Amino acid sequence: MSDKDYRHAVVLGASIAGLTAARVLLDSFDRVTVFDRDTLPGGPANRRGVPQGEHAHGLLARGRAVLEELFPGIVADLAAQGAVPLDIQRDVVWVFGDRPAPRTESGLAGLCVSRATLEAALRRRVAALPGVTVLDGHEASGLTFDGTQVTGATVRPVAGGVEHEVHGDLVIDATGRGNRGIAWLAELGFAPPEQERIDAGTVYVSQDYRRVPGREDFAAILNAPGGPQRPYGGIAIGVDGDRWMVTLLGVGPGQAPPTDPDDYTAFAAKLPDPRLHRLLLEAEPLGDPMRLRLPGSVRRRYERLTRLPERFVSLGDALCSFNPAYGQGMTVAVAQARELGRALRHGADGLPRRFYARAAKVIDVPWDMSAGGDLAYPHVEGPRTRRTELINGYVAKVQAATGHDAAVARRFLEVTNLMRPPQSLMTPPMLARVLRRRPVPAPAADLPREVAVG
Ligand SMILES: Cc1cc2nc3c(=O)[nH]c(=O)nc-3n(C[C@H](O)[C@H](O)[C@H](O)COP(=O)(O)OP(=O)(O)OC[C@H]3O[C@@H](n4cnc5c(N)ncnc54)[C@H](O)[C@@H]3O)c2cc1C
Repeated sequence: MSDKDYRHAVVLGASIAGLTAARVLLDSFDRVTVFDRDTLPGGPANRRGVPQGEHAHGLLARGRAVLEELFPGIVADLAAQGAVPLDIQRDVVWVFGDRPAPRTESGLAGLCVSRATLEAALRRRVAALPGVTVLDGHEASGLTFDGTQVTGATVRPVAGGVEHEVHGDLVIDATGRGNRGIAWLAELGFAPPEQERIDAGTVYVSQDYRRVPGREDFAAILNAPGGPQRPYGGIAIGVDGDRWMVTLLGVGPGQAPPTDPDDYTAFAAKLPDPRLHRLLLEAEPLGDPMRLRLPGSVRRRYERLTRLPERFVSLGDALCSFNPAYGQGMTVAVAQARELGRALRHGADGLPRRFYARAAKVIDVPWDMSAGGDLAYPHVEGPRTRRTELINGYVAKVQAATGHDAAVARRFLEVTNLMRPPQSLMTPPMLARVLRRRPVPAPAADLPREVAVG
């Protein structure tokens, strides 16, 4: 006889949200079956269902901490495969305004890892858990329902074969931003949730370059787009030991980076910090630049619905997908999975309402940051209030101050890494630092070049 409360949970989608959900579900269920329509690779490799894997992917400090909590030892495993554990302020060149932030020890622990390597490590760990089965090549096509609660899902083998029903005491939709959860619920007679949408019209063009570990004194460089005055940016993240994943991005009409290799390098010369351009001139390109028009952000307000079916929950991008330029999606997905585990401590009855209330608290701050930040661009459609304008005006001042004040830079990084609330940028000492007149330019506070990052 099992000491678990429930028998079988079904998870649709075997990516970041689905895999971390499977891990927490195992605390309450005897068995968890995870379905994905892709053929899942045996090791780190990009795949059709996760096209974003080809573009630079940053993991926030909060995401690293939650992953380590759910999968103890995963950071060390990933480091053994070439991922770079780092101090987010000391080891990364951040450019939010027109000057790089001073690089000092912050205690903010980050990890430079490719999306493919991270996902492969999660897959390996989850598949090894007793009670978990991961079935790839199976597409979810709908839900089964007994009039009160969802009782399972219908799945269809992608290679051909009959659609069949899989019984589950709980079904999790983790099929990402293109999910069909709302249509599935409509088939069962449920009204759709309100949806908030913001689309900044961002275009990513990405290319890999060969990296010689230890040659540069930074593990990553991030030139954030600088608002309407500088609606473009560029990122390089050192991953998998010997690779730079580089993404150049433009926000709004006419700002897309070019895909021609020479023009691509030239675009990087426009960035306020010269190091990314230098890196592109010196490093060997691997493959050709790839272009992606980023989808907009969508937040589904399931927590506001008065009528919800029992035993069904949407999680990760299926619940809320962000503008990827803020690097929040994976972190919010794993934080939601943790909340799912906490909500399950009170049992599966009434779970959707408990979970969505908890998930909304996880989503609120990153959503305000990304949707509110996008509204700083005049071409972006969305509800602007006096508060949005005031906050965006203050954030612009904070970003300018990060270029000369290490304490402001640290606090801003703590907030954007979801380790502190945004209000912590508005304490009287912080306000004084942010609003202080800018000092005469000081010598660059970077580490000496010989301090290499592996
Ligand atoms: C260009 C780009 C850059 C990004 N950069 C960052 C970043 O720097 N940092 C960050 O944290 N986040 C980033 N994100 C966001 C991040 O990728 C997502 O938030 C994250 O992948 C969400 O995980 P998920 O598991 O919810 O969904 P997904 O990763 O989208 O996974 C959905 C899964 O469901 C499967 N699936 C879909 N439909 C079905 C079906 N019907 N049946 C069965 N399986 C199905 C798919 O094959 C896939 O495995 C970026 C996104 C993009 C687009």
